[in-house]
Amino acid sequence: MKTNEYPFVIGTAGHIDHGKTTVVKAISGIDCDRLSEEKRRGMTIELGFAPLTLPCGKTISIIDVPGHEKFIRQMVAGAAGIDAVMLVIAADDGVMPQTREHLEILSLLGIKNGLTVINKIDLVDDEMLEIAKEDVQSLISGTFLEKGPVMNVSAYTGEGIPELLDAIGDLVENCAQKNREGPFFLPVDRVFHIPGFGTVVTGTAIKGTISVDDDVDILPLLEVSKVRSVQVHNEPVEIAYAGQRVALNLAGVALSEIRRGDVVAAKNCFAATECLDVEIKLLPSVPEPIHHWQRIRLHVGTSDVIARISLLDRDKIIPGECAAAQILTEEPLAVCRDAHFILRSYSPLRTVAGGRVIMPVAEKPRNKLEKISLIKFLNAMTEHTTGRERLLALAEYKKIIACKDALLLLELDQAEFERNIASLEAKGSIGLLKMADRFIISLGKMEEYREKLASDLGAFHKEHPERKGMDQEEVSCSLSINDSRFSRELMKLFNRLAWFAVEDDRIRLNYFRPFDEAVFMNNVSALKNILLEASYMMPTVNEAAEKLNITAEEMNRILVYLKERKDLVIIGDGFVLHSEVESAFREKIAAIDGFITLAEVRDITCSSRKYVLPLLEYFDTKGITRRVGDKRIFLNKNRKK
Ligand code: GDP
Ligand code: MG
Repeated sequence: MKTNEYPFVIGTAGHIDHGKTTVVKAISGIDCDRLSEEKRRGMTIELGFAPLTLPCGKTISIIDVPGHEKFIRQMVAGAAGIDAVMLVIAADDGVMPQTREHLEILSLLGIKNGLTVINKIDLVDDEMLEIAKEDVQSLISGTFLEKGPVMNVSAYTGEGIPELLDAIGDLVENCAQKNREGPFFLPVDRVFHIPGFGTVVTGTAIKGTISVDDDVDILPLLEVSKVRSVQVHNEPVEIAYAGQRVALNLAGVALSEIRRGDVVAAKNCFAATECLDVEIKLLPSVPEPIHHWQRIRLHVGTSDVIARISLLDRDKIIPGECAAAQILTEEPLAVCRDAHFILRSYSPLRTVAGGRVIMPVAEKPRNKLEKISLIKFLNAMTEHTTGRERLLALAEYKKIIACKDALLLLELDQAEFERNIASLEAKGSIGLLKMADRFIISLGKMEEYREKLASDLGAFHKEHPERKGMDQEEVSCSLSINDSRFSRELMKLFNRLAWFAVEDDRIRLNYFRPFDEAVFMNNVSALKNILLEASYMMPTVNEAAEKLNITAEEMNRILVYLKERKDLVIIGDGFVLHSEVESAFREKIAAIDGFITLAEVRDITCSSRKYVLPLLEYFDTKGITRRVGDKRIFLNKNRKK
């Protein structure tokens, strides 16, 4: 960039013949009407753009647009590039219908800064000038121009011109510059051939920067090309910045392969679309609402196409109202996020609405549920401002999305994107599947998978207790996933999150241990040893499981097995009694003559009341002993086994 070249663009607006071109000439010395004559004769490649050097020394750009229809096209094309606007009103004519329409369009296009110029003051007396001023005040009140100055000038005599230049200087100083970061995006407004040079395109760069030798995509047809040379204001430069008027000489592209309305963009960063998610505002001044599925002309960037409006949560938008909607175009085009657009009706041909692109590459909802989630998503996208919030909203809406698609849709800077991904993943707000392409998976979708897999695994473990868990194919089947790498990565993710356990490529519920006969038989004999060693001081089920270091489930399986073989019983509050211990105990008490007391049994078994009581009660139920008062008798019929 030349040292004094400052990326700030002012556009003119106002009724025809109110003196826009003459004012631009008075402040810049450049006659834009004459420039377009020259252009027609091939003397200059730039149209309607004048460099304007301010009192502070900075050089900015001013765009002057001839004619009303051209104003609309040029304003839409340049809106994203325009930082401020200069609305010109002739003092002798006052506010005219086109003055109002221009101001409405500028507001719809999201222009936030500007100043108002009352021109031709040499043609009116003081009284007329006062009337014009009042007229202008009521026009701009409530609009973005309200906060800007109103300057009185005569482009003819030069009166007020130095003050106007100062006011523009102040405006440039006080305007926050537009955020134009991101991959390069340039809607093409003119295409021509220069013999011996090749195809040249011009436009206002909306985002990013472009340098000689950069690779570019030409959308929507996705031709690829390389930038051979770059010009700004008819001067060759190495690099051009968003906000500047740019001419690019493109290699390997024939004149027939590119036209006005196309986009020259950084390679692999944008895609063509026929469905956009948008926010629409209908002008308060239009007489008719916009209806669902209405056909309309869409002006966005440098393209204008026929399109239909699909309303999502209502059947019409009434004048003055804002709504989320989709625009379905009849031919493909390329737009960028946040691009402002204008909607015009045919008969009468007039601007009825405008808005902003929320998602440039969108999908039509296929059912009611998808429609509800789309509305929720669009509301989130209009409310949220940070890249992180928007990434989360996108993940929740798409459920599963490739990182490269998310990057494309959100138009985030790669480094910022990576930071957002990392922090959302660390917080557990999203999951990340690291395949050749990385995929983001929303928390909602992960939980949906978790629930289904947990229930299927529950059944699976019951049916296949000997298996370690489901393999990748069975997981794919359970979750209806048809990409095997995706299921494999999902299994790894679930393992990392400790939602499930994965071992030898098999996924299982965390608590589940597969049945292994050798291990089982080992545990059976280990339990027997524990029980025989403990003898009358029987362990409880839980204590035995703890000693064996096995789960309750596994313990239960062993108990069932041994109970069936009549090798053990559970007595009292869960004491495990082995049949050999039972026999020994039986012999001990059979040897007692007469009444059996608890204390005596305790003494001869060298144990305690805690164990003896449940043993005796168990014998009572079996009819081996019988309680008589606080003593017991051994029933003779059981003397012999
Ligand atoms: P535009 O259509 O808004 O660009 O208007 P032009 O700049 O082409 O001006 C239209 C006519 O108004 C031309 O004949 C100009 O000479 C004339 N004009 C522009 N500014 C002034 C002014 O300050 N005083 C007078 N008397 N005539 C002017
Ligand atoms: Mg003009």
